[in-house]
Amino acid sequence: MTPRLVLILLSLSVMLFGAGTASAQDKGSVNPKPLPPLANPNDPKIGARELFARKVLPAAMPSRVIGSYAKGCLAGAEHMPLNGDTWQVMRLSRNRNWGHPDMIALLKRLATKAHKDAGWPGILVGDIGQPRGGPALSGHASHQIGLDADIWLTPMPDHMLSREDREEMSAVMMVRGDRLDIDPKVFTPGHVLVLRDAAQEPSVQRIFVNAAIKKALCREARGDRSWLSKIRPWWGHDYHFHIRIKCPPGNTECQGQPSQSEDEGCKPADLAYWFKDSILHPKPETKPSKPRPPMTMAALPAACKAVLAAPDAKQ
Ligand SMILES: [Zn+2]
Repeated sequence: MTPRLVLILLSLSVMLFGAGTASAQDKGSVNPKPLPPLANPNDPKIGARELFARKVLPAAMPSRVIGSYAKGCLAGAEHMPLNGDTWQVMRLSRNRNWGHPDMIALLKRLATKAHKDAGWPGILVGDIGQPRGGPALSGHASHQIGLDADIWLTPMPDHMLSREDREEMSAVMMVRGDRLDIDPKVFTPGHVLVLRDAAQEPSVQRIFVNAAIKKALCREARGDRSWLSKIRPWWGHDYHFHIRIKCPPGNTECQGQPSQSEDEGCKPADLAYWFKDSILHPKPETKPSKPRPPMTMAALPAACKAVLAAPDAKQ
């Protein structure tokens, strides 16, 4: 990384979003305000997310995954460069383009394949993780150990996006108005190829997409269809897909998930749940649910304390 880039990154810091979710559609700011210092950073009741969100750089430690996708942290994270021949990173103000080196390598590989196989200029990279992983102030429950990444379903444009574009551009909705299928005007055969390329990576464990996208893949996949087993319907993936990789070899403190079943998951019964009226059109809650207290450091693996306390890595 160039010294200038480090300066930009430092000055960006992490933005404080409100509660709620930070999807690809949440816009960022070109001049995000740094988070204010905490009055009592050693208070054991303080949310771990407040502590991790204030770290602008990774821990100066060898790469090491600690804990699980939704309860853990990452030492020795690597930075996804903001621009490559076939990718650009979005929403820089969030400073969430850090991941395990295996994930960064995979994203670079996938960007090349999206260009070669689907003819896309490249991919737009959304959130990976914070510099030291851990829970975030907004958005995701997972993305805590550098093994999750969001990729926009909007292909990269054929030109360099400005800083403003990267904060403000909206991703394209891939799902039809009635939510029963994809919108064929925007979801193209190229999308099938990019999702296939991602799912065929051996280290990828699962990929989350909207159920209408899974349905379209089931219909349109040709040839070897074994990769479909890794693609799972999940809420909130109308504009982007989410790649999750397995625990990298040798990371004994990483708690992965059981492998997917080998089944394609394309039978009508496999998808029926997602197209029930109660799921497509959930009733608004009558009384707002009480927000759960945030996870504290005590809830994370003990080794995450050392990751948080370590000096900043030199970039
Ligand atoms: Zn995600």
